[in-house]
Amino acid sequence: MLLREQSGVAAFMTSSASLQDRPLLLREINLACQEKRPVGQVFLVVINMADTNNYDEIISIFGYKLADDLLNIRLADIEFLSARQPTYRVGFWSVGLVFRAQNTPEYQAALEKLIRVLAKPVICRGIPVGIRAGVGICDLMKSTGAAEDLLQAAYLAGQVGAKSAAGWAECNYDLTTGHQRAFTLIADAENSLATAHEFSLRYQARIDLKTGRANAVETFLRWRHPTLGMVMPDEFIPLIEMTGLMRELTNWVLANALAQLASWHSLGFKLRISVKISPKNLEEVDFVLRLEELLKTHGIAPSFLELEFSERHKFTDMELTRTRLRELRQMGVSVSIDDFGTGINSLSSLENLPVSALKLDRRLVHSVVDNARQQALVKALIHMAHELDIYVVAEGVENQAMLEMLLAWRCDFAEGYLINRPMPAEAFIEWFTHRFPSK
Ligand code: C2E
Ligand code: CA
Repeated sequence: MLLREQSGVAAFMTSSASLQDRPLLLREINLACQEKRPVGQVFLVVINMADTNNYDEIISIFGYKLADDLLNIRLADIEFLSARQPTYRVGFWSVGLVFRAQNTPEYQAALEKLIRVLAKPVICRGIPVGIRAGVGICDLMKSTGAAEDLLQAAYLAGQVGAKSAAGWAECNYDLTTGHQRAFTLIADAENSLATAHEFSLRYQARIDLKTGRANAVETFLRWRHPTLGMVMPDEFIPLIEMTGLMRELTNWVLANALAQLASWHSLGFKLRISVKISPKNLEEVDFVLRLEELLKTHGIAPSFLELEFSERHKFTDMELTRTRLRELRQMGVSVSIDDFGTGINSLSSLENLPVSALKLDRRLVHSVVDNARQQALVKALIHMAHELDIYVVAEGVENQAMLEMLLAWRCDFAEGYLINRPMPAEAFIEWFTHRFPSK
């Protein structure tokens, strides 16, 4: 152990005399935190060059000298970043720096390049060696806390990143307080996605309040984890959102939802489907292209699809989000803002985002039964949406009294336990056939 550590230190000392020490990085983090710049422009980046197990394997197979050389080559690989700003030693095999970008595309391009470089095997004395690196990222304009804690969190995020398919992860401060469960979920998500039946979808009907018929269905994701059992999306989605795996997860949801819809269409159930995406998906450059391909593969016209995203999320790049939503709507896909009425940004998101629908948050819907002020609010929201040519969906409708009020206020659609609980596909269509006999 001692020998290995000495060797690791030596590797850094000899590989780059320009690497500065951690206290200086802490000072730079403190200074950066005081800058008044928008979210998405100033980041603490920690690069774990190899995860520790990986490093142990390399040493036992190739010996210390080669391991040292590998790290030196890696340091040279990231020179495109370290030439831009001072790079500091964080641990034996990890470095950190404060990265500044003018905008989201610049940050994303740098991150993609970094991940690409780190994913390549290192050719060391003619031998290609794969070392699994991980990048941890902390947006300093979003973060509060002591520089030490931010660095620790970014370091742990780097370990999480090494275990995720994407190779990087954003900080989750809970990780520093030993949230082993969160770590397990993040580390296992990729495997579960590749394993049949661990992720699955549930379906809930959406009733058209004008006709009383269900013309659409909404999907909800579930994860039966191999050791932790059933895990609910409120727990795992925010964790997976910290990693690049949200792209794969949303792809999985969309592909499975569209396949299911195609099978229902072939049986004569001409339902529309509403699928949740992460607001982060809207920042992916090829999102619309991938969606078009999926729709084509399953033979579903875009007008049968609605994408929902929550308004609770802070968009890092509003302009990019707007462009993406416009592209989706031009394609014929509907987009709706979920959890509407709970965030402080509700009105500005309505004004700024080209959405087709808003979904009243279930807490807001629940509050209408015995609260006159909330009744006035919901009624006004529905009216305002209609003025803007936006249709309104009320979620979480649990009793007849709620439904009656929504009807009186000319809300367009309703979903909730009063109609049905989210169910697996086969149970859903059986229930649906029974409830709406003539299809
Ligand atoms: P959400 O989109 O606001 O979903 C509504 C939640 O309320 C769902 O919980 C649903 O099962 C539940 N619900 C439906 N009807 C009623 C009702 O009448 N009363 C009450 N009390 N609850 C009702 P669930 O399935 O646990 O999902 C929680 C959240 O996880 C979702 O909130 C959404 O933010 C996220 N989520 C779920 N599935 C997905 C997915 O496929 N992709 C993404 N990105 N997020 C998802
Ligand atoms: Ca909601």
